[in-house]
Amino acid sequence: EDIRVYEFAEACGKSPAEVITVLFSLGMMVTKNDFLKQDELEILGEEFGIEVTVRDALEDVNYVGDYHDGDEDIDDSSFVTRPPVVTIMGHVDHGKTSLLDKIRSSKIASGEAGGITQHISSYTVEKNGQKITFVDTPGHAAFSAMRSRGTAITDIVIIVVAADDGVKPQTEEVIAHAKASGCPIIIAMNKIDKETANIDMVKAQMAEKGMTPVDWGGNTEFIGVSAKSGEGIEDLLENILIQAELLELKADPTAKAKAAVIESSLEKGRGPVATIIVQNGTLRIGDNIVCDTTFGRVKAITDDNGNAVKELGLSETGTVLGLNDVPTTGTVMVVMDSDKEARDIATTRAEHARAKELSKSTKVSLEEMSGLIAEGKIKQLPVIIKTDVGGSLEAIKGSLEKIANDEVKVKVIHAAVGGITESDLVLAGASEGCIILGFNVRPTGSVKAKAKADGVSINTYSIIYDLIDDVKDALSGMMSAVI
Ligand code: GDP
Repeated sequence: EDIRVYEFAEACGKSPAEVITVLFSLGMMVTKNDFLKQDELEILGEEFGIEVTVRDALEDVNYVGDYHDGDEDIDDSSFVTRPPVVTIMGHVDHGKTSLLDKIRSSKIASGEAGGITQHISSYTVEKNGQKITFVDTPGHAAFSAMRSRGTAITDIVIIVVAADDGVKPQTEEVIAHAKASGCPIIIAMNKIDKETANIDMVKAQMAEKGMTPVDWGGNTEFIGVSAKSGEGIEDLLENILIQAELLELKADPTAKAKAAVIESSLEKGRGPVATIIVQNGTLRIGDNIVCDTTFGRVKAITDDNGNAVKELGLSETGTVLGLNDVPTTGTVMVVMDSDKEARDIATTRAEHARAKELSKSTKVSLEEMSGLIAEGKIKQLPVIIKTDVGGSLEAIKGSLEKIANDEVKVKVIHAAVGGITESDLVLAGASEGCIILGFNVRPTGSVKAKAKADGVSINTYSIIYDLIDDVKDALSGMMSAVI
């Protein structure tokens, strides 16, 4: 993965133009600096009669799967049941934070934790000798974002609804996100200690949203709880364990650890700190770790009670010190065999990220062009002109070419009558800083989207003077600087 058109061409002894032509003929628009996608690589392999193996060097490393009994091709002899990871979501003020704190404090023997009153983002409790890990996600949007990036940390979702307030707009959003995750959902009807609490109202409103209570013939569990008195919390935990059992969550405690980063920060005197949940294996002090573009060796581990520990096991959560930089939330921390391996992977990833950033930034907007021109970095403004009729095309082309002076000039790469198409984007992408000017023509939605993705700027006008003025302004950036 992550190979550019020209790199690919070089690797198989072709010219970039040949590669571009093949893809172009199939309607795929690329420029020589673009990264090839998997399907494009496959097509090219076929076309040139060479074998192309698409392999993400980091794929196995990043793979974090759920393992179930009976999965084929997996030696599951060392697999054990792992504790479920639970996320609580709900409308603001319905008691998410209070509930998380109450569950924790009701389960921790006094004295065990240092600052129990302080809210923490993840912890593990025990019920009937079985563990449950709770995670406080910053919001349902973040929850789904992590999921879409492949860092699905949650096994079970709890939707909290205040029984005195009922279903609110945010509750509905949460339902949508929770459903999309495919996780089992439990409804916690909170604040049942209040006189105004109305459990039947909540059930009816939720049933309307497709979440019918079990006692109404549906299949969603509704548990009444109070984060204030603690009532119902044992019920809720029991229910979580029942759901977890059905999920048959398995993982391998003997494997090299994989963990999801759920929080990160830079702390004075400690350096980069990552709060993690172990998804597979066991994380130990001394392990060589890589986490997206950061790497290091585990120097210290703190468990969810703030105690220094030597290791974290399956579904356990805590903080890790030892990374060279602050990792991005939602990324996966993986243990490697050697520190060299960890460093190499992190460095390669960082280089790729930088290269991708650069390949984008070579294509700029009219305003940015003006800045580059002002700095004397660019001596010409390449443009593509598309218009509705021939008359305006000639007029615009003539006017733009007249603006040019000795220092800077407009370079018309292509001028034609017709709509702005993908092939215009390809052309623009091939010429650094090229801008597409449309007069009485507009790009279609898909061209617009592709332009955005490619970083090609399209400006459309319905008054010729506006078009000319914009270009003049861009060029004058340089003209004034030269004088
Ligand atoms: P969040 O925004 O969902 O995290 O809600 P909070 O946990 O901050 O709670 C919002 C308010 O409701 C606070 O004033 C809590 O004290 C109160 N609250 C939360 N749970 C309960 C409960 O079970 N009973 C009562 N009476 N009040 C609660």
